[in-house]
Amino acid sequence: MQKRKRLPGWLKMQRASGETYSMVKHIVVDNHLQTICTSGNCPNIGECWNKGTATFMILGDICTRACKFCATKTGRPLPPDQNEPERLADSIKTMRLKHCVITSVDRDDLSDGGASFWANTIKRIKEVNPSTTMETLIPDFDGNTESIQMIIDAGPEVISHNVETVKRLTPVIRSKAKYDRSLDVLRYISGKGKTAKSGFMLGLGESEAEIIQTIGDIYLSGCKILTIGQYLQPGSEYMEAVEFIPPEKFEEYRVIALGLGFSYVESSPLVRSSFHAENHVKAQ
Ligand code: SF4
Repeated sequence: MQKRKRLPGWLKMQRASGETYSMVKHIVVDNHLQTICTSGNCPNIGECWNKGTATFMILGDICTRACKFCATKTGRPLPPDQNEPERLADSIKTMRLKHCVITSVDRDDLSDGGASFWANTIKRIKEVNPSTTMETLIPDFDGNTESIQMIIDAGPEVISHNVETVKRLTPVIRSKAKYDRSLDVLRYISGKGKTAKSGFMLGLGESEAEIIQTIGDIYLSGCKILTIGQYLQPGSEYMEAVEFIPPEKFEEYRVIALGLGFSYVESSPLVRSSFHAENHVKAQ
C-alpha cells in the first residue's frame, strides 16, 4: 500500500461548487450518466463543471482493464445500456454544449471493443446537437482498425487516444495496452485525415530524455494536439507519484513540443486530456 505524498502549492484545486456546477451535477445524476470527471477524481472538476463542460464516459462505469494510475472501477461490465446514446444526446442539448468530450471504459468483453456502440452514440449526439463539436477519447480497441474506422466514419471533429506514459513505464502502469500500439492507433487516425490528439502524465519516474522522446514519438504519429499533466495518485492502492514536476518544467516541454510542430499543446501540472478541449477543435 502506497502512502500519498503531500501536494505542493501549485497543485491546489478550485473548490467544486457554484450554480453551473450544480446544474451539470443534476443533469449527470438525473440521467444516470457517467463522467470521467468524477470516476477519475479529476482535479479540475470545479473549473470545468462551472464552465458547463464535462467529459462523459459511455459503455458503463466498469473497465475490463486495471491500469495502476486510473481510479475507474475494474471488473466484469454490464451489457451496454441501449438507451444511453439518447439520454446523453438529450443531456448535451439541455446543457447547450458547444463542444463535448466523450470517452469510455475499455470493453475487451465485446467483439468490436464497443466500437459500434460508440459510433451509434456519436451519430445520435450529432443528430440531436448538429452544431455541437465533439472530441472522442477512445481506447486502443486492441489495435483493431475496423473498430477505429467506425469511430472515424461517425464524424467526431477530434479523435484522441492517450499514450499515458513513456515507453519504459507503459508495462508498469498500463494494463494490456502497449506503447507502440497506441502510436499505431494515432497513426491510423491521422493517416485518415482526422485531427489526432494524445497526451501523457509526468511524475511517474520518467527521465527528461524519455519525456522528449515521447513528445517526438507522438508528433511522428501525426498528432496535432498534445496534453501533458502531472500524475496524481488517486488512492493508496494506486501507483505512487514519484515526484511533482514544477510548472516551469511543464512550460519547457510545451515550448519543445510547439517547436517540433504541434498545433496545440496544453502542458501544466493540472492539465488533463480534456482540459480546455473546446480550443482543440481549431487546431489544424
Ligand atoms: S479536465 Fe476533463 S475530466 Fe477533468 S473535470 Fe475537466 S472535463 Fe472533466
